Amino acid sequence: SKSPIGRIVDPESGDVSFSRYAGARKFYELPLSKRTKNGLEGGGFKKMTDIQVASLPHALCGRDILGAAKTGSGKTLAFVIPVLEKLHRERWGPEDGVGSIIISPTRELAGQLFDVLKTVGKHHNFSAGLLIGGRKEVDSEKERVNELNILVCTPGRLLQHMDETPNFDCSQLQVLVLDEADRILDIGFKKTLNAIVSQLPKHRQTLLFSATQTKSVQDLARLSLKDPEYISVHEKA
Ligand code: ADP
Ligand code: MG
Repeated sequence: SKSPIGRIVDPESGDVSFSRYAGARKFYELPLSKRTKNGLEGGGFKKMTDIQVASLPHALCGRDILGAAKTGSGKTLAFVIPVLEKLHRERWGPEDGVGSIIISPTRELAGQLFDVLKTVGKHHNFSAGLLIGGRKEVDSEKERVNELNILVCTPGRLLQHMDETPNFDCSQLQVLVLDEADRILDIGFKKTLNAIVSQLPKHRQTLLFSATQTKSVQDLARLSLKDPEYISVHEKA
């Protein structure tokens, strides 16, 4: 059974209090699985950045997030950690199929965030795949895509699989991530994103991160988020 929204269940202790995590500044103070804590330690991550401090307690509660913080502020861990923790808490396994889809604007950025996912997710047993356009391997991807738990993709390639891959199944999707949403929209992927979101199950958590808050990001947020937490982190003067 699914964990109720509005509570963080510590996967190790079963602790369900929320407020005690709201002021956490270090990763080890958060109610994370040992596997994720080990992955963070392996990556050398100890102190959270401001966007991570502000968003992780909400995201770990299952809330939708509209997060804005400038480039370099650490937005990747603000969604990679909640994705891993959600699937861990749901005891996601090989037969459960696609549990999370992470959409990134470009192949380069998708590749970079895939590396972060591999580092932090190293001690979990989830399968993850990088689905990015411009590769010849679309046919071999089609055979594997339903066996993957976490898809990291560019919008065009994801929609291609949704349209062309027989039995492509994301009906059990738990967490959708829209990373660098302003750049996705700048590149001209608005229609592609709308087509993707319209085909996804409505009962899911959605985490949307962006460097800037533009009108088109707000339009996308209206379409894809449910009762989100608005988190905007600015540099102190
Ligand atoms: P953004 O997506 O906001 O541009 P990234 O997630 O790419 O930022 O992170 C920028 C850099 O900061 C990366 O090199 C990343 O490894 C590093 N970083 C992120 N979070 C932390 C942290 N909590 N502690 C130390 N370094 C971090
Ligand atoms: Mg980023």
